[in-house]
Amino acid sequence: MYTKTPTVGALPESYVEIDGVLVDRRIFTTPFICDVVVQQCGSACCHRGCVVTGGDIERLTPHMDGIVRYLPEAKREFLRREGGNFVGDPERQGTEMLPQETMAMIRFFKSAEDMRCTWVVDDECVFLYPSTQPAPGNGHSVTVNHCAVHSYALERGMDWQSFKPADCVQYPLCFYQKDSRTVLALQEEPGQAIVPCLNNPIGPPMYRSLEGTIIYLLGECFNEKVQAYGREHFPE
Ligand code: SF4
Ligand code: SF4
Repeated sequence: MYTKTPTVGALPESYVEIDGVLVDRRIFTTPFICDVVVQQCGSACCHRGCVVTGGDIERLTPHMDGIVRYLPEAKREFLRREGGNFVGDPERQGTEMLPQETMAMIRFFKSAEDMRCTWVVDDECVFLYPSTQPAPGNGHSVTVNHCAVHSYALERGMDWQSFKPADCVQYPLCFYQKDSRTVLALQEEPGQAIVPCLNNPIGPPMYRSLEGTIIYLLGECFNEKVQAYGREHFPE
C-alpha cells in the first residue's frame, strides 16, 4: 500500500552540519559507483519503479511515442492496454516506501496519499529495457538493463537530469525538511539489500561520486562546501 501517514523522517543517525544543512555522515564514508557494467546490477534500483510527480507526467507524456520505442513488445502492449498511462493505479499496484523516502518526495505533493509510482511490470519499472553495453577492457558486450527515458534523452542531446523523474535523478540521495532544517540523506528503502552498488564497497566515497546529484539537489555552492568538508575531514 502507499504510505498513508508518513512518520516524519528521522534525522540520520550520524550527521554533520554543512552550511546549515544536516548531512548524513555516511556520504563521506561509503564507497559508491553507479555503473551497470561494473556492478552487474540489472538496474536493480528500478525494481519498484519510481515516484512520479505532476511535473514528471507533464514533461514525459508528450515524448511517450519516442520513449516506448526502446521497450520490448510486452511492455509496449502493456502500456497500450493502459491507454499510454505510465503511472500505476494504486488500486492495482501497491508500493512500499519507508518514511524517509516519502519525505524525500513529499515536496512535490500536497499529501502522501497523492503519491503515485510508475507501473511495475515483471518486478521492474515499465521503462526498463534489456540492452547490451561493451565491457571496459575486453570490448565484449554484456547484458544490462537501461532506462528508456534516460536513453531517449541522451540520444536527443537533452539534459537527462532535468528530463527524468526527479525520484530517479536524486537516487540514492534525498533531501527533506525536518523541524525546519534541511537534511541531505541516503534513501532508505526496503529493496536496498538487492541493490548491488549499495552493498559493494568499491569506488570513491559518495560525496565525490554523487557530486552531480548533490548539485542537482542543493546547488553548486553547497556542493563546493561538501567537497571541501570531505577533503578536510575525510582525506583518502
Ligand atoms: S544506482 Fe546501482 S543499481 Fe541503480 S543503475 Fe546504478 S549501479 Fe545499478
Ligand atoms: S524511470 Fe527509468 S530510472 Fe526511473 S525507475 Fe523507471 S527505469 Fe528506473
